[in-house]
Amino acid sequence: MKKFKTESKKLLDLMINSIYTNKEIFLRELISNASDAVDKLYFKSLTDTDVKLSKDELAIHVSFDKDARTVTVSDSGIGMTKDELEKNLGTIAHSGSLEFKTENDKAQGDDVDIIGQFGVGFYSAFMVAKEVRVVSRAFGSDEAWAWVSDGVEGYTIEEAERTTNGTDIILTLKDDTDEEKYDTYLSEWGLKSLIKKYSNYVRYPITMDCDKTREKPKPEDAGDDYKPEFEHYTECETINSMVPIWKRSKSDVTDEEYNEFYKSNFHDFADPARTIKVHAEGALTYDALLFIPSRAPFDLYSKDYKKGLALYSSNVLIMDKCEELLPDCFNFVRGVVDSADLQLNISRETLQHNSQLRAIANKLEKKIKSELEKMRDNHRDDYEKFFEQFGRGLKFGIYQSYGMQKGLLGDLLLFYSAKQQKMVTFEEYTAAMPTDQKAIYYAAGDSTDRLAKLPVVNSVLDRGYDVLLCTQDVDEFTFQTMQTWGEGESAKELKNVASGDLGLETEDEKKAAEDATKENEGLFGAMKEALGDSVTKVAVSTKLATAEAAPACITAEGPVSLEMEKILSQM
Ligand code: ADP
Ligand code: MG
Repeated sequence: MKKFKTESKKLLDLMINSIYTNKEIFLRELISNASDAVDKLYFKSLTDTDVKLSKDELAIHVSFDKDARTVTVSDSGIGMTKDELEKNLGTIAHSGSLEFKTENDKAQGDDVDIIGQFGVGFYSAFMVAKEVRVVSRAFGSDEAWAWVSDGVEGYTIEEAERTTNGTDIILTLKDDTDEEKYDTYLSEWGLKSLIKKYSNYVRYPITMDCDKTREKPKPEDAGDDYKPEFEHYTECETINSMVPIWKRSKSDVTDEEYNEFYKSNFHDFADPARTIKVHAEGALTYDALLFIPSRAPFDLYSKDYKKGLALYSSNVLIMDKCEELLPDCFNFVRGVVDSADLQLNISRETLQHNSQLRAIANKLEKKIKSELEKMRDNHRDDYEKFFEQFGRGLKFGIYQSYGMQKGLLGDLLLFYSAKQQKMVTFEEYTAAMPTDQKAIYYAAGDSTDRLAKLPVVNSVLDRGYDVLLCTQDVDEFTFQTMQTWGEGESAKELKNVASGDLGLETEDEKKAAEDATKENEGLFGAMKEALGDSVTKVAVSTKLATAEAAPACITAEGPVSLEMEKILSQM
């Protein structure tokens, strides 16, 4: 037996116990290696005319034996010679694949998509296996060799049998820990679901012999009381779907296909409201496929909701939900980002450089916004439905970012216009403003009907100015955070009709009110006394100048309106 070098032993221990947080990825790593091995042979066939190869020989086969407790990953790839077994598997952190990539960098182009680079993935097998046996026959060689190790002390290499080129990785699973998991690895559905989860888009078919039942043929002489009989048989099935839908050009994919992909991957019953496809090339090449759901998931506004996009690198799933790819305000967007350019860390669970992610996130943010704007401008009904579901989150985004997101999100907001009796944007509100109107007016309360009857609202309407009627708890907070809408010179102040001085009165009206307050000093004094601490002041107001039916109103002074006070005291 050859012993692992001491450094290797330490590293191996570290590997098995701490690099990966999730044992099940061992299958992903072995399949990725198999895919690399097949890729290398395919590459050889492109450059070496002696290599005759038909594409359908290129495959990866996964099988298991419940009694022997083995899981086997076989490939018809390039295989390894005795020397290569020693070099690639006997030395931890030696990546034959990285070597291959560097040697063939110029030549390989788009046809090869090698995944390996760190030379550690293989050893993840020892997280679940007490013994790993690798039987390999190199392409063009007539001998096969087996590399066998328990992952602790060392390995042996012995002669073996294999009729064609390729490699079998045979894991004998540990029998001690984590029983449930082990049942998963030793079952058809368990392996299938791991293949679908991590390796669905590996570009070669990953096959399994699947258990099936079928009806036996009806015998000729079957009588009237014949009951159909069933039999078991196995059939070799391809488990992965191979070409990822996000890598196919948009014109090749039907809406139906996108919708099905969305529903089966993101567990929604309804079709998405919009599908966004992005293909970027340049400093960072990536594909993204994003979906705007048609309705909010039930937990969207709860603490437990996790935003994020699935992240793939070279067709292999790295992360289910990569948070950095989505701003909070667009947390409802679902989808996938795939880039071969990302620099992964050794466990492939995180990325080396967040700046790459940030660059993608910025692009996606712009893309999502422009898609929403398109919907707002061209399909208003759709947009209003969208806004009903997700508008609250957009408003909250402004509040939560202390107004930093105003530019991004302000254009996307809709509020109910008292004058036009429909949802309008700030843009539409200001476009319809009379020239003498200085500010944008809004009122907050629990229903638009009630708000529409408020004297203060009507007195602003009577001056010919529109009022936005806001009924969501977050509205007023959003307005207060925004303070203004618009850029530079044309920026308009956002004013709550219920609080303080609206500055709408003429000098004459103002003077008349002051005079009236003075004249009735005695009356107001008595009223203040009777109301006690409930009010700070009783005075004649100009606010109701045109609202004949309303003799009085309650107004809050200072930044917190009566509505907000109500919400704050509920929290
Ligand atoms: P990486 O894939 O990052 O290079 P691994 O630890 O997963 O590192 O694998 C180490 C090396 O072993 C690979 O680079 C490759 O040269 C070799 N290897 C692993 N599995 C196979 C296989 N199925 N067929 C051929 N070579 C393999
Ligand atoms: Mg690997």
